[in-house]
Amino acid sequence: KKILIVGGVAGGATTAARLRRLDEESQIVMFERGEYISFANCGLPYYIGEVIPQRDALLVQTVDGMSERFNMDIRNLSEVTAINREKKTVTVKNLKLGTTYEERYDVLVLSPGANPIKPPIKGLDEADNVFTLRNIPDTDAIKAHVDNKKPKSAVVIGGGFIGVEMAENLVHRGIKVTLVEMADQIMAPFDSEMVSILHKHVTDMGVELILSDGVSYFDQKGTKIGLNSGKVLDTELTILSIGVRPENELAKSSGLELGERGHIKVDQNMMTSDPNIYAIGDAIETIDYIYNEPAMVPLAWPANKQGRIVADRICGIDSKYPGTLGTSIAKVFDLTAASTGHNEKALARLGKTNYKTIHIHPGSHAGYYPGAFPISLKLIFEVPSGKILGAQGIGYDGVDKRIDVIATAIKGNLTVRDITNLELAYAPPYSSAKDPVNMAGYVAS
Ligand code: FAD
Repeated sequence: KKILIVGGVAGGATTAARLRRLDEESQIVMFERGEYISFANCGLPYYIGEVIPQRDALLVQTVDGMSERFNMDIRNLSEVTAINREKKTVTVKNLKLGTTYEERYDVLVLSPGANPIKPPIKGLDEADNVFTLRNIPDTDAIKAHVDNKKPKSAVVIGGGFIGVEMAENLVHRGIKVTLVEMADQIMAPFDSEMVSILHKHVTDMGVELILSDGVSYFDQKGTKIGLNSGKVLDTELTILSIGVRPENELAKSSGLELGERGHIKVDQNMMTSDPNIYAIGDAIETIDYIYNEPAMVPLAWPANKQGRIVADRICGIDSKYPGTLGTSIAKVFDLTAASTGHNEKALARLGKTNYKTIHIHPGSHAGYYPGAFPISLKLIFEVPSGKILGAQGIGYDGVDKRIDVIATAIKGNLTVRDITNLELAYAPPYSSAKDPVNMAGYVAS
């Protein structure tokens, strides 16, 4: 069998490695438009911030290393420009040589990811200090700008995960950061009463937070940013991080079915509308785990899991994607902010009203042992069933553990009553005899 993979980072590289482990015979060819494969996207902001000092640490696999280890044909600087579904071939452009050729497939896997959104804002094309962040070349460009131009001020546009992580890392480099967000809050997975903790914290850390305002124009080669409110900001470095758009051009031009917002539609086996083509990762529309509604969640866990499932399917193993819960976490300066499942805004969008919420503020561990901090924990559950619909946690310590336990409980179909029965590890430096997750269960039931 000849299997072609488009995209050589999170989803693509996972698929390729799992395929080879399951099947020693098939021919595997992985195409990557960029120079680098399998790099750590999630680590990029921390390398710019010099929290991760070594650039090499970002390169999880190299073309040579992975080709040899897994006996596969990896072609970087190779862009797949068309899928010819009738002939079962793809057209490939070798970006180094400028040549084009066709390659035949039995099975094609698409993991092309998503691109940072660059809206047609006046002056953006002429601005030379505005950057987006997706890959190693973007990272190198931002880091070189910080290292060489030594900007004193920066503006981050967009308060999602990448924007907030970049704000923190630029502050870490000694830069005065202004964070501009169009919505009335940063970090969309959190409901407003929870996110206010983050607003206060980033402000306390020296970030100027401008909410409910967007960019209207860039001026003077990007050194001035005009906002919708009329405010004008001076900036020596701007990060545009207002979200991502699926790379759907190949799917679109070859007539694969797309969802409402342009993501590639797949079934639970990750199969597209063409049975010989699978798609995974940021580019696809899948379903949400709780309500089976369409879900587009550009995170690393889904891309990795889906990559394994595709490899299983191709090798005849019955493996299905259960849907995405959207569990996520971010370091916001000294705080950790994590969430799983739906928040109240999402429930309102879905028209759900049969739920209740509770808020608790337990210590991260026993109060009499030094270093305990309160965790703000919100649990959302269905009534009367007690089914857990979502949770949000913010605090200095122990937030990741509690949200991960609740995410596990959701996947295990546990109710708020069931989580009072979870027997969790306890000694004073780590928790309390009644863990915050148990406590949330008691309060909810
Ligand atoms: P990608 O990993 O983006 O890989 C797609 C690759 O396909 C790209 O390299 C692209 O060049 C290539 N490609 C596209 N089209 C073609 C073509 N036609 N021909 C050849 N090659 C092509 N997620 C988390 O869960 N936690 C985090 O902390 C986190 N932090 C992040 C921080 C940053 C700065 C970024 C950018 C992302 C972060 N993510 C994080 C998201 C996570 O990296 C993505 O969800 C994941 O990489 C998606 O995998 P993918 O395979 O769909 O796309």
